[in-house]
Amino acid sequence: MTAVSNIYPTAALRAADAAHHIHPFSDTKELNAEGSRIITQADGVWLTDSDGNRIMDGMAGLWCVQVGHGRKEIADAVHKQMCELSYYNTFFKTTHPPVVALAEKLAQLAPDHMNRVFFCSSGSEANDTVFRMVRHYWAQMGKPEKQVIIGRWNGYHGSTLAGTSLGGMKAMHGQGNLPVPGVHHIDQPYWFGEGGDMSPEDFGIAVARKLEEAIDQIGEDKVAAFIAEPIQGAGGVIIPPETYWPEVKRILKERDILFVADEVICGFGRLGSWFGSDYYDLKPDLMPIAKGLSSGYLPIGGVMVSDRVAEGIIDKGGEFYHGYTYSGHPACAAAALANLEIMEREKLVERVRDDIGPYLQKHWQALGDHPLVGEARMVGLVGALELVPVKGDRTKKFADEGTVGTICRDISFKNGLVMRAVSDRMIISPPLVLSHEEADLLAATAKKTLDETYAELK
Ligand code: PLP
Repeated sequence: MTAVSNIYPTAALRAADAAHHIHPFSDTKELNAEGSRIITQADGVWLTDSDGNRIMDGMAGLWCVQVGHGRKEIADAVHKQMCELSYYNTFFKTTHPPVVALAEKLAQLAPDHMNRVFFCSSGSEANDTVFRMVRHYWAQMGKPEKQVIIGRWNGYHGSTLAGTSLGGMKAMHGQGNLPVPGVHHIDQPYWFGEGGDMSPEDFGIAVARKLEEAIDQIGEDKVAAFIAEPIQGAGGVIIPPETYWPEVKRILKERDILFVADEVICGFGRLGSWFGSDYYDLKPDLMPIAKGLSSGYLPIGGVMVSDRVAEGIIDKGGEFYHGYTYSGHPACAAAALANLEIMEREKLVERVRDDIGPYLQKHWQALGDHPLVGEARMVGLVGALELVPVKGDRTKKFADEGTVGTICRDISFKNGLVMRAVSDRMIISPPLVLSHEEADLLAATAKKTLDETYAELK
């Protein structure tokens, strides 16, 4: 390996990072004692660190780099846009060509009944927009008392006030007295961890009916919306039983509430469809999007809006007092357009559905035979391994929850593969351009990592 630490002096960068940088979702004191990993370059599915080590990016950054790292075409599009119009806003009756082109493109890619988009800069901002938009919609429809939004425990919708509140991460709620009032949480469709002795099918129906129970308990006249990820990502790649979404759809059809499908991870090909809503045949009223929209090259998010919601927030007239300085930023819109162009030209969605998705899934299923693995699951190119102390017994958990996951994650990194640990679940979500050879290597490294973790536990 080529040592490049003379160009990127690891020790000096670590010291400055520790002195001045507060990291997101980190115990910064602990991190500073260990020192950060310093990623200096990236290309395709490969990262390079400041000591010249190459590591496979099995998480596509943070579930977002669909087209792989280092695509010059996106950098060129952004450069060109910045030279032409680096910034202008979309407030006060103005617009600009890249944001118009992107809105039109998204309307074409989204389900047929979704033809409009509100732009922001991240998934969290998208969900803050959702929070305000659903309440505004019902007020416009003459039902201002419809305010409550139902989310799910262990769902993730971002880390702003509204995002944290809509999500169901108890550790996040514990900091700062959240959720804000007007949010109610129901159980998640996590059969492996919470299904007891029910079959996945029966559990899927039972847990879907928690939505019906919650609506009845709160009163349909007070419920504004239900928000859910098609597959929960940050919660541990929770793939619902097959019966879950059909039963939720049945309930939503009978109740007059909005449905928000959070597509921040599932959107843009991750499941082998443009949106998770296509994969599960959902008909959402709103879809928060971000991440894969620009493959993370520049920060951009949005909320796709159905014709039903547009009737309330547009056709009825009146101003929606909401927006961000960077709503529809021209350079970010140009990055997103170039990204989507690559995805279409290289048929990445079809590739995940028909080729690399099934190919990696086969490898992944084989890891399910490992003595440390209770379940291996994957849809498209997003998957999880449940690490268990007793194979074949879903009720047994490791004594110190999360420790084995952390050990496994660190071994994986040492072996040259970024996997994420969510408690004792190992997560993978690689770029959609992963080659067959890279998929072979990913699976072999994951297997080696499991073997070494297992050996360390003995
Ligand atoms: N929604 C979902 C489903 C996510 O997974 C995330 C981030 O992981 C968000 C929202 C928040 O996105 P951001 O981190 O861009 O604010």
